[in-house]
Amino acid sequence: MNIANLSISEISNLYKNKELKPSEVYKEVFTNASLSESIIHAHLKLFQDEATEASKLSDERYAKGNPLSDIDGIPIAIKDNINLKNHETTCSSKMLSNYVSPYDATVITKLRNNGVVFTGKTNLDEFAMGSSTENSAFGPTKNPWNPEHVPGGSSGGSAAVVSVGSAIASLGSDTGGSIRQPASFCGVVGFKPTYGTVSRYGLVAFASSLDQIGPITNSVEDAKILYNSIKGHDPLDATSIKESTVEIPTDKNAKIGVIKELMEEGISDESKKEVEKTIKLLEENGNKVVEVSLPLTKMALSIYYLIAPAECSANLSRFDGVRYGIREAGATSYEMMENTRAEGFGEEVKKRILLGTYALSAGYYDAYYGQALKARSAITKDFENIFKEVDYLISPTTPTPAFKFGEKTENPLEMYMSDLCTIPANLAGIPAISIPTGLSKEDMPLSIQLMSPARTDSSLLEFSETIEKLLGFNQRTLLLEDMK
Ligand code: GLN
Repeated sequence: MNIANLSISEISNLYKNKELKPSEVYKEVFTNASLSESIIHAHLKLFQDEATEASKLSDERYAKGNPLSDIDGIPIAIKDNINLKNHETTCSSKMLSNYVSPYDATVITKLRNNGVVFTGKTNLDEFAMGSSTENSAFGPTKNPWNPEHVPGGSSGGSAAVVSVGSAIASLGSDTGGSIRQPASFCGVVGFKPTYGTVSRYGLVAFASSLDQIGPITNSVEDAKILYNSIKGHDPLDATSIKESTVEIPTDKNAKIGVIKELMEEGISDESKKEVEKTIKLLEENGNKVVEVSLPLTKMALSIYYLIAPAECSANLSRFDGVRYGIREAGATSYEMMENTRAEGFGEEVKKRILLGTYALSAGYYDAYYGQALKARSAITKDFENIFKEVDYLISPTTPTPAFKFGEKTENPLEMYMSDLCTIPANLAGIPAISIPTGLSKEDMPLSIQLMSPARTDSSLLEFSETIEKLLGFNQRTLLLEDMK
């Protein structure tokens, strides 16, 4: 039995039946981390001592027959832009290299109260800006399927650890695709919930109106379990929404729309084929699938690359050496701030701050930021209208499978294009999931993305479980067999 290949519910049942102990599972995932880290560099920190201790406490709870929850003793890794008390939260930036969190993010409090074992902090693109983890100040993460390829980003570390089994699941954050795109590149499930359903308190902000925390897991069922453990209204987050679940069909009556614009040029044949394969399975299952058009999705990238940098320029102003961040010497306080920001931030982050500051400046505000906001509302409306006709939308998660290191670093536009399919869901605030479907000619993972109306997260997850079964593609077994 390969423990890291088991689902959360399987592990949990083995714990309850006293056939397996949390400390044994932790030991196994730690061994996987020891074997894989030198190749893939997915963690920035492993919490070996603390996690061993936590897993033993969990052992005792099961021995007494009173675990804290169904995820008690499950080893989970956390993206290093989420605050975990008394540990560094670096955001893979030199700026925060010495920052230690004085508090837990709300998602961490929830998982802690449920008895989860935190395995460590995972690598990301600096401040979650990027699509390949090549922007990490501490070096990139490699794709476990082939280390010459990127794992995606910005939650590349969180996707890679689940893929190699150095954690059973992980948390990532998704502003424009950072959960789904790396999940897709690493052959695992990534779920971005409806905006506001999971608290952002304790997540270091990149673009506050787009950021959302979510799970990266081996299966849709695991994503559902983890999502249910972290969701819920939080008074500490002003954008957190009160729970009011909307249900849509999850059976044969579910109607699916294929987004025409995400099956056209710019999308590789390999990626399209996975969608076509899934559509065929859905039709055989009795579901109705129709083509739908969302013309504004073509503008999503341009809108995102105004709104996200604008919000980032405001959010990152706190890293000035006074409030937060390393402090570089300077003759005056302004010089100190200038030196701190010049030294602390990497190239991509600086580029976005400049772009955002420009877009927000008095003379250009209406022409750029104001227009982008209007276009964002129009996209949201388009989604609302289309969801009057269909229950779910299907598309590839990414235009291509994982690309090679360096392939897109010279051309930022090409890099940005890898989020073509994922960004619309963030702009509209709707839930979206990436489900692995198969392998490319080069044996790299491929997947499809499914989106649904705001607040229908539970239905989306349920329907995704059906699709996962119809596909019958178990990416984990393949990978673990290969690594032996
Ligand atoms: N890759 C996108 C960007 O660079 C999205 C990042 C994210 O979702 N955090 O902004």
